[in-house]
Amino acid sequence: MKKPLIEVKNLTKYFPIKKGLLGRTVNHVKAVDGVSFTLYKGETLGLVGESGCGKSTTGRTLLQLLEPTSGEVIYEGTNLVGMKPSELRKHRRDLQIIFQDPYASLDPRLTVGDIIAEPLEIHQLYQGKEKEKRIDELLNVVGLNSYHAKRYAHEFSGGQRQRIGIARALALNPKLIVADEPVSALDVSIQSQVINLMQDLQEQFQLTYLFIAHDLSVVKHISDRVGVMYLGRMVELADKNELYANPLHPYTQALLSAVPSPNPLEKRERIVLQGDVPSPANPPQGCTFHPRCSACMDICRTERPAMHNIDGHYVACHLYK
Ligand code: SF4
Repeated sequence: MKKPLIEVKNLTKYFPIKKGLLGRTVNHVKAVDGVSFTLYKGETLGLVGESGCGKSTTGRTLLQLLEPTSGEVIYEGTNLVGMKPSELRKHRRDLQIIFQDPYASLDPRLTVGDIIAEPLEIHQLYQGKEKEKRIDELLNVVGLNSYHAKRYAHEFSGGQRQRIGIARALALNPKLIVADEPVSALDVSIQSQVINLMQDLQEQFQLTYLFIAHDLSVVKHISDRVGVMYLGRMVELADKNELYANPLHPYTQALLSAVPSPNPLEKRERIVLQGDVPSPANPPQGCTFHPRCSACMDICRTERPAMHNIDGHYVACHLYK
């Protein structure tokens, strides 16, 4: 029986839109709008969707890097939402992030050793020789050498920089890593090296990953389960083999129809979605996907579909009521 590590319940993150001299709030961008899921210990949950669907904001809100508007994030029996910063600090060590852009996320003024030492210093762990030993250890674990500690980030390739980012995320022995598009900025040839490294580290340190990406092939490769987001909401969540073989939500069906099949003999009908993704500041009533859905019914225009559990395959669509 898998044990939950984190339970996310009805999480929302709204960003205010301000106007006028007095900066009055006139509306909100509903970046994350009532998302719920559980992350189990040792698993990789992939999170996919078009850009702007709220997947990165979900990851950052879960980590409390962005303050949630409402909802709960239950970690080790405690709700992290609304927790005092001093209390939250104790949990931060366990919950780390790898950023998308290995060029922008590493301070160019610091040596690699200083970058990796930063979290150790913030949490007052390891001093002097012990700290140097820990930095060595972390560099070796991600496939770099001890002498790299004295160099600066600009001296490394994109793949090596992402390895530095991973070493920094590992410094505090985390339990969960939110990987926010960790290979999107890398060459395809380097992507697989970084993915393989992440898989090895997961096994070695029993890590749990929330892996955010828009590349469905990469997500299929690394994930145990996959969640699909559309306009700030989770619309489908299932075991990866089940989801890729039997997508239920019309949006997931359209996304997957665009992924090239590894079998050249397999004919796949491409579903082309009509129109653009609506603005998250003014999402459509009912099912937010309804203006683009070829299966849209009257109820879809007025009633938000609840998440239905079909033998462990979750889908938010009125077709499965
Ligand atoms: Fe389409 Fe209706 Fe299902 Fe939304 S709820 S995906 S509009 S069928």
